[in-house]
Amino acid sequence: MIKVNMNYSNLKDSYLFFRIAQKTKEYLKNNPEKKLLRLGIGDVSLPLCGAVIKALHEAVDDQASKETFHGYMPECGAPFLRDTISEYYNNRGVGIESDEVFVSSGASDELGDILDIFDRSSSALVIEPSYPAYVDANIMAGRNIVHLNSDKSNGFLPLPDKNLKADLIYICSPNNPTGAVYNKEQLKSWVDFANGNGAIILFDAAYEAFIEDEELPHSIFEIEGARTCAIEICSLSKTAGFTGTRLGYTVIPKDLKRNEMSLNSMWVRNRTTKTNGVSYIIQKGAAAVFGSEGRKQIKQNIKFYKDNAEIITKALDEMGIWYTGGKNAPYIWMKCPDKYGSWEFFDLLLNNAQIVATPGEGFGKCGEGYIRFSTFGSREDTLKASEKLKELLKEIK
Ligand code: PLP
Repeated sequence: MIKVNMNYSNLKDSYLFFRIAQKTKEYLKNNPEKKLLRLGIGDVSLPLCGAVIKALHEAVDDQASKETFHGYMPECGAPFLRDTISEYYNNRGVGIESDEVFVSSGASDELGDILDIFDRSSSALVIEPSYPAYVDANIMAGRNIVHLNSDKSNGFLPLPDKNLKADLIYICSPNNPTGAVYNKEQLKSWVDFANGNGAIILFDAAYEAFIEDEELPHSIFEIEGARTCAIEICSLSKTAGFTGTRLGYTVIPKDLKRNEMSLNSMWVRNRTTKTNGVSYIIQKGAAAVFGSEGRKQIKQNIKFYKDNAEIITKALDEMGIWYTGGKNAPYIWMKCPDKYGSWEFFDLLLNNAQIVATPGEGFGKCGEGYIRFSTFGSREDTLKASEKLKELLKEIK
């Protein structure tokens, strides 16, 4: 009889969003007249910008005539999009060549698929609290996971020490769920650690477009030495509202080698075997994100979410509450008032203020005692929620 991948039996139930949905459903059943203020969502709420819509329409029209029709696209990405993304890096002073860029259907896909090129005996270091996919993808592959906890004392930005041992290192900056962002010096210590130990950093830059402070790095490749130890995985999901349209990109420098193998060449081989590329239409829409109109328009959308962040952080500042994120990230990670655990505070927010947030404990044990607010909701919900949050915090003081 065939044997299935028994590593799947080691996965814990991903009960976080299921439990949130259950609790909110029950609340609405008992309180049908109430309206919920949804600050839990990880999806965007604004539509694609005009420049992208125009490019998508034009690409659809291209598919209607023999002269402009496109069939299979190159597996690693259309040259026009690889060039555009390489230029995006080069314009920021980061030298990335077109054939170091791989177009994907999104960061989630790549975060899982990329594990194919690493031996199963290699260990994976996950900084917690973390985006849940890092842990689960490695459990599915039967990999040993090293959990590195972060907390308030290091601003949820832990650094490596000499006792740490790991082959793959996940770094997400700006971070989901904490919104914390590593500075260049801090990232340099991770790069030095990886180069010193032959490890590889998988740098998740899904939220790079939310960085406002000029001195903060958008890419791991802004750090000296990263070309020999890092892979960057990025996405247009939050940058440009592509959550439902689907497009991401991965950067693998040609200098990145282990066991005398080029990881860039390995990934070319992987992609040319396991995908037939991303659709022409979507790649055309994605290229428009990087054009001058597209850049202006996505900035306006990001500003809308940033203004939501400011509304929430202002309320927390007024109440003297500790948090990370908001300024350079679309998430705010708030320390719950002292006597409350994550789920208790979630219940209090739901029952007393009709706010839906995400309990920090769902992102790893060290998220206990914290709650995550997303800034992707509507302005109306965000304004109402920040007022109600202040009232609630005053009441329980
Ligand atoms: N990485 C992080 C940290 C995320 O928060 C998300 C989505 O929420 C992703 C990756 C997935 O992005 P994509 O929509 O491109 O699959």
